[in-house]
Amino acid sequence: MKSYNPTSNEMLLRKAYLFSALAHEGVMRKDGRPYLSHPMSVADILADLKMDDVGIVAGFLHDVVEDNHTVTIENIGDRFGPEVAHIVAAVTKIERDVPLDQQMSKEEAGYENIRKLIIAMVEDIRVIFVKLADRLHNLRTMEGMPRESARKKAKEGLEIFAPIANRLGIGKIKAELEDLGFRYAYPEDYEMIRSAIQEKRIYSGGFLEETRTQLTDLLGKNGIRCEVQGRVKHLYSIYRKILRQGININEVYDYMAFRILVPELRDCYSALGYIHSRWNLVPGRFKDFISDPKENGYKSLHTSVIGPSGQPFEIQIRTFEMHSQAENGIAAHWKYKEGRFVEEDDDNISTFRKEIEDSSKSSGAEFLNNLHIDLYPKDIYIITPKGKVVHLARGATPLDFAYAIHTDIGNQCVGAKVNGKLVPLKTELKSGDRVEVMTNPQAHPSRDWLEVAKSTRAKSKIKGWLAQNEKSLAIERGRESFEKELRRLKKNLRELSENGALEEGLKKSAVPDLDSLFAEIGYGKIDPRVFLKRILGGEEEEERSRHPGRRASDSPPISFGGDSDFLMNLARCCNPVEGDEIRGYIAKGKGLVVHRNSCSNLRRLAEIHPERVCEVNWEGRGGTNIFEIPLSIVVHNRRGVLAGVTKTVSDAGADIMSCDAKSLEKQGVGEKGMIRIKVLVKDKGHLKRLLSMLSDLDGVASISRNAP
Ligand code: MN
Repeated sequence: MKSYNPTSNEMLLRKAYLFSALAHEGVMRKDGRPYLSHPMSVADILADLKMDDVGIVAGFLHDVVEDNHTVTIENIGDRFGPEVAHIVAAVTKIERDVPLDQQMSKEEAGYENIRKLIIAMVEDIRVIFVKLADRLHNLRTMEGMPRESARKKAKEGLEIFAPIANRLGIGKIKAELEDLGFRYAYPEDYEMIRSAIQEKRIYSGGFLEETRTQLTDLLGKNGIRCEVQGRVKHLYSIYRKILRQGININEVYDYMAFRILVPELRDCYSALGYIHSRWNLVPGRFKDFISDPKENGYKSLHTSVIGPSGQPFEIQIRTFEMHSQAENGIAAHWKYKEGRFVEEDDDNISTFRKEIEDSSKSSGAEFLNNLHIDLYPKDIYIITPKGKVVHLARGATPLDFAYAIHTDIGNQCVGAKVNGKLVPLKTELKSGDRVEVMTNPQAHPSRDWLEVAKSTRAKSKIKGWLAQNEKSLAIERGRESFEKELRRLKKNLRELSENGALEEGLKKSAVPDLDSLFAEIGYGKIDPRVFLKRILGGEEEEERSRHPGRRASDSPPISFGGDSDFLMNLARCCNPVEGDEIRGYIAKGKGLVVHRNSCSNLRRLAEIHPERVCEVNWEGRGGTNIFEIPLSIVVHNRRGVLAGVTKTVSDAGADIMSCDAKSLEKQGVGEKGMIRIKVLVKDKGHLKRLLSMLSDLDGVASISRNAP
């Protein structure tokens, strides 16, 4: 504190610390540590935010009234003055007043809460700082919390506190609240993105470091002193991009970002010029927040360029001072007098105050809109006829709204009224619109709806309906021609199933059941005449083996120096296929184990025993090799997706060794499932083709090659 507030009153802080220690004495937190560790950390975060004495003291004391019933707000007022008492009272009151699950809908209750919280700031802005620090530390120490309460706290962190931190311009708190909130509110999605990004990083190797050096050199050579930081973008922003654009994680390319800090404003623009002349820029991504700052005061230049290896990345350019403003927000320029900050001349606070006062009469959602708090960033809110609030992405149409309410309402949608007026289904909705959907039980989706709907949810529901219904048509058609062929041969279905011939035939054709057989016939993939001939006549002529020659368990096609008698194995951790870049590792008792170059296990092993690593090469055997590769596929749970995956694998000419599917727990973004499948492929090109066919498949969210 002394570094930013030399007039700070040390005795007062000691007193607050001791008071807190006594009040929380003997109480433990859920993580097993003394309760005092919490107010201490909160005070510490507040000191990071350059709070003054009153703010820090309130941080030490924010939970004492709640936790120790012999201490009252009056006691605190007597010892630490009315301001500290006011902050502690406000923080405690907000905690108690949370009106959950009453007559109010969740959204309304949420808005009302935030409104209360924000209005409390009009009197003392430090209330919100203490709340932010409190929630941040709670999220940092979430281990051991029961899952449901962890999820609730995390969602509030994500949906309420992070947007407020953003409005106040405190970038560092906002980013941490978002990532922690994301991690505990949507653990499976978080894990999926975390591991996918980690894998991408392994592939991209030293990209961050190399590019950082190139940027520093480029600018240094041109006489610009600068500090360059390289990082992976925070996971929640990657997640939002995926949701917003309806893409899967493999389609996210610009997940790395650089920040260039320079001394002077003019350096920002000259740095930008040098960068644009060095690399190609991604069109439409340049933003000048210096001449046109964000509502929260944020200033910076943003651009995206395509790096030397063809990989796009984002660059932010700003002065050191703008950076401090972006990280610390309104706290960046506080001045202190006698241990307290003087906020009278702070434009940001007074503007914000005025906005709050002006809109304090308006209702929840509108109130936040007036304050430019993007509660659900990039979202619009739409009101149902019953007054419920529904969030949609910008650009959403009445059809998206209909599907957001219920799949059946979407499927049977025939028209919509916006604010009482009949509109075409493709009308773009605006925040605050009141939308009423008209349905007809006879109606159903059509292919052109895929153009009208903008949200991933609506699109996937429409595609699902189409696939389902087009499939049932195929089954119908297939059944007809199959039965026709049976009649021609004077056979019937019962006969075939009684002697087991039918079952044998299904197995041979690799279809799981009769309906699938009809569907395949309907799609024209299986000829009913050939099928019946095979099971009735026993001819072997159709028999074709996809992979004559070697089996997966044979010695791998690797050459290694002269010593070809070496026992060789392909590593199970990274499962290399012919064409991958590989290296060998001589493992005691296991012979030579061949890993992919990018394998993190190999990397770790090589650090310990670099002498055991050796060069190996693939040995071409004329395309007769077979590799068994485990894949983990995250899918949106819906009918037909597993069948689609297995069909795609066989369309790609790969065999399935084993397959299992399970449902992941219900998430905020729809239900997900995980399919683990082992396939046999010929080489890297074959695998690549299979992966791209699978990722094109409807309902597939992500695929990873290594079994996690
Ligand atoms: Mn607390």
